[in-house]
Amino acid sequence: MLGSMMRKELLISDLIVHAGKYHADTEIVSRETTGALHSTNWGDVAVRSRKLASALGTLGLSQGDRVATLAWNNHRHLKIWFAVSGSGMVCHTLNPRLAPQQFIFICNDAGDKAMFFDKTFMPLITGTRDHLKTIEHFIFMGPRDAEVLAAIPDVVFYDELIEQGADDYEWPQISEESPCSLCYTSGTTGNPKGVLYNNRSTMIHTFAISLPDGLSLSSEETILPVVPMFHANAWGIPYAAAMTGAKLVMPGPMLDGDSLLGLIDDQKVTLALGVPTIWMMLLAAAKKSGSRMETLRRNVIGGSAAAPSMIATFRNDYGCDTIHAWGMTETSPLGTANRPKGKHADLDADAMALLRLGQGRPPFGIDLRIVDDKGAPLPHDGKAEGALQVRGHWVVDTYFGKEAPATTGDGWFDTGDVSTIDADGFMVIRDRTKDIIKSGGEWISSVDLEGIAVAHPGVAMAAAIGAVHPKWDERPIVIAVKAEGADPSEEEILALYKGKVASWQVPDAVVFTDAIPLNATGKMLKNQLRDQFANTLIERGIRDA
Ligand code: ADP
Repeated sequence: MLGSMMRKELLISDLIVHAGKYHADTEIVSRETTGALHSTNWGDVAVRSRKLASALGTLGLSQGDRVATLAWNNHRHLKIWFAVSGSGMVCHTLNPRLAPQQFIFICNDAGDKAMFFDKTFMPLITGTRDHLKTIEHFIFMGPRDAEVLAAIPDVVFYDELIEQGADDYEWPQISEESPCSLCYTSGTTGNPKGVLYNNRSTMIHTFAISLPDGLSLSSEETILPVVPMFHANAWGIPYAAAMTGAKLVMPGPMLDGDSLLGLIDDQKVTLALGVPTIWMMLLAAAKKSGSRMETLRRNVIGGSAAAPSMIATFRNDYGCDTIHAWGMTETSPLGTANRPKGKHADLDADAMALLRLGQGRPPFGIDLRIVDDKGAPLPHDGKAEGALQVRGHWVVDTYFGKEAPATTGDGWFDTGDVSTIDADGFMVIRDRTKDIIKSGGEWISSVDLEGIAVAHPGVAMAAAIGAVHPKWDERPIVIAVKAEGADPSEEEILALYKGKVASWQVPDAVVFTDAIPLNATGKMLKNQLRDQFANTLIERGIRDA
């Protein structure tokens, strides 16, 4: 024998063992569903999650069983994550914003055996319960509660259940290949599909996102994951916070701008993560209150494209460096993060700002390529646009319960996004394949058009879609929501496009609407907008461009 290194499986239970042992007094602050703030620490989370894991055994649950959560980001949810995954079961985070039909489909498809829930979601359970075929235990995340008991007579109370657990419970030494969590895509088209993560993929993802060129996490940070734990595992933050010993601030149900601003200032949050719609509300609240968000040094924006004007506002008005990141449920989710390289240190401010607009480059563990419509690879020259494909240690291979692989014949996952990639790997999402606007055979990026519209201070939200046009098939139009108290005109907004895009890419119309429909993860539902506004140009009388 030449010698050997210790063999140790990569297990999620070891994250909480580490955090409990070496970061015991680091705080976890959490907003309860009542609105009150609760404070605990990694030491307590480590003890309580072991006890809960043991208690779950008393319910007859065992390794491989799916245990669902219907919950906000809070301390009980955190303990459930470690208890379920640490004991070899599968933590299935459910998105409560789904339509009841999809919710029922997902629970049954996953075969969930138990479901933890926050009080907010009780109506969803009572309304769908008769259709949830596999669930044996509903566990209310709190103390005994008469209202909950009246609505769900066989309910189990978390605070009582956990006391059934043994204090000397030991985490089982399972295989790192065993599954730990399950998350469904939001299924804007068709039925949602489940992505089954395993301990190994999750652990490697956790190392990668913690690195400096990932999200650069450490025990110095106070992290506010606004992104829900049911949206691609809060982008992996709960695991990475345990790995690095960071302080966590869990926002619970209060995701409005004022509440988040209060948490950032009171808890001295240094890093916050969320989708663009969250930041719009936060920036509006900060402007109104005059808060400087002094401690917030960085934020991570992903899920949808971050508008250039938003990144600039964070940088110029608040001294906050935005890390624009891209990923999907299928990629655990981090695929790329926008971190400059050493060679960019001397870029002037404008060039640096331009570099930071895109979705960034892949960390080690992720490989990207773009292909044409025949599947042939395209050059990484920053110009060629193609279908973005990805492979790596934490990318889906086969969806939950499916036979056929989710990958191409040669082992890549097709993301459904269209992008460019430059020689350094910096990737820019141009659009989702189904959202790109095709005018006379030429492609127009809806993302670009939206970014320009929302730079107008009077525009709160904007979606660019293709409207039917007899000559060009489709022409771009912008559907916009006015900012509170503002009254921009169509001409003003159209004027913004001059010089920023080619003249044939300038939208043909701006239509104001009261609200843009969002999906369960906060993305604009452009298919609904297309249904509603497809005939806008025809109804207005076509201008022959
Ligand atoms: P779903 O596809 O079900 O909405 P995901 O959260 O997995 O759920 O969404 C992944 C998709 O979100 C990506 O394929 C991409 O289209 C979009 N996306 C994620 N991050 C970004 C980003 N920074 N910029 C543009 N699009 C993004």
